[in-house]
Amino acid sequence: MHEQTVAQLAQGLRDKSFTSVELTRAYLQRISELDQNYNAFITVNEENALNAARTADQRLASGEATPLTGIPVAHKDIFCTRGMLTSCGSKMLGNFVPPYDATVISRFNEAGAIILGKTNLDEFAMGSSNENSHYGPVKNPWDTSLVPGGSSGGSAAAVAAMLAPAATGTDTGGSIRQPAAFCGITGLKPTYGRVSRLGMIAYASSLDQGGPLARTAQDCALLLNTMAGHDPLDSTSAVNAVEDYTLSLNKNLQGLKIGLPREYFGEGLDSATGEQVRAALKELEAQGASLVDISLPNSDLTIPAYYIIAPAEASTNLSRFDGVRYGHRCADPENLHDLYTRTREEGFGDEVKRRILVGTYALSAGYYDAYYKKAQQARRLIKNDFMDAFERVDIIAGPTTPGPAFGLGAKSDDPIAMYLEDVYTLAVNLAGLPGMSVPAGFVDSKPVGLQLIGPHFGEAQLLNVAHRFQQATDWHTRLPQAGGVV
Ligand code: GLN
Repeated sequence: MHEQTVAQLAQGLRDKSFTSVELTRAYLQRISELDQNYNAFITVNEENALNAARTADQRLASGEATPLTGIPVAHKDIFCTRGMLTSCGSKMLGNFVPPYDATVISRFNEAGAIILGKTNLDEFAMGSSNENSHYGPVKNPWDTSLVPGGSSGGSAAAVAAMLAPAATGTDTGGSIRQPAAFCGITGLKPTYGRVSRLGMIAYASSLDQGGPLARTAQDCALLLNTMAGHDPLDSTSAVNAVEDYTLSLNKNLQGLKIGLPREYFGEGLDSATGEQVRAALKELEAQGASLVDISLPNSDLTIPAYYIIAPAEASTNLSRFDGVRYGHRCADPENLHDLYTRTREEGFGDEVKRRILVGTYALSAGYYDAYYKKAQQARRLIKNDFMDAFERVDIIAGPTTPGPAFGLGAKSDDPIAMYLEDVYTLAVNLAGLPGMSVPAGFVDSKPVGLQLIGPHFGEAQLLNVAHRFQQATDWHTRLPQAGGVV
């Protein structure tokens, strides 16, 4: 059962090959037996999951089911879940049980999906390796000595190890696409505003976006159908009508123009990874797409701009964690100042503190123009590059990451090396565009991802291209072996 995709499981539920209770039990069983090897989950509530499965079975029997009714889904522990710990990977929220559901969670609940559990992540989604979690690192199911990527590493590992058929993640600078690439699964970061951010704990509000991680593009389409849509409670959520993303999956690629940014294939790209990505592009070419060389000339500005803007927004967003209203509070504060400083010192990990310091500095009077304003100007140039490119091509493609997954601990003492991991993913967030990572082969038995980038609200086309690619290749069907996964 666990090797099936969401689409296959949904069919199985309809055909009465198994019930949602049986399905949910099977995944809970796998989690309890295997997750000690990956550390993908922070919280699992078996009783609630099985109760929801029972309700789903009744709904399936009544004929009023949606495509996700009865399907277990794991959620990144950054989405607020009513009555269920939402830690954000931080000691600061180690006791936070939200009184409400994130809109994404409500939508899954309304669709009748089962909350299988909450997945591990880098603290407050800051990281590229899942080593910044208060709950310990997540291990890559392809090789447990490797990182799964971050920050949605728990979600990616859970799907890759088949502890969940699908999961949610968030992507501020690559946190859906990069772990999807490292774990050999498919991930989609939608257009900024396509998915509601209400109840998704904020890291960098102008960049954060929730999206699905699954084994196939078709499954991502099914999940996006449920996740996407206007939310009157999120003023940044887009009013554009939501398409049925499963309907456009089988269009042929004849005449599709795919732009290959020169800057994404240059220095810094591991050559074997580059070869896999080029081979994947050849496959799309064989299906009738044409490959067009393009340039995104301001790509060099991406890392510096992002690592000013994201920390600046983080420093303001995280100012709410002060020990007063909720979350961690230090013991016996002497006065208000002591309460703030000790609470934050104890509650936040090193990387979060580093970002708060950088962000606060960049926003301070006297430095604001030199750093924050400059970074915003660079952001506009980066966005304009994409807008110019989309005048000539339909989508843009390249590697998701400079190389495959690296070893646990290999970069954890070198923040700059870690930040360079995001070189191909950050610009998509700065420009608010949709982006995907699709399994595209292996380098030394480690998965690598093909990144597809579309114009704003071009999710249907990206999913279509990814789906066509997956019809012709079997990379996404390969199963990892490490940690007793099969
Ligand atoms: N690795 C990037 C960072 O640390 C992106 C993280 C994310 O997308 N949440 O900020």
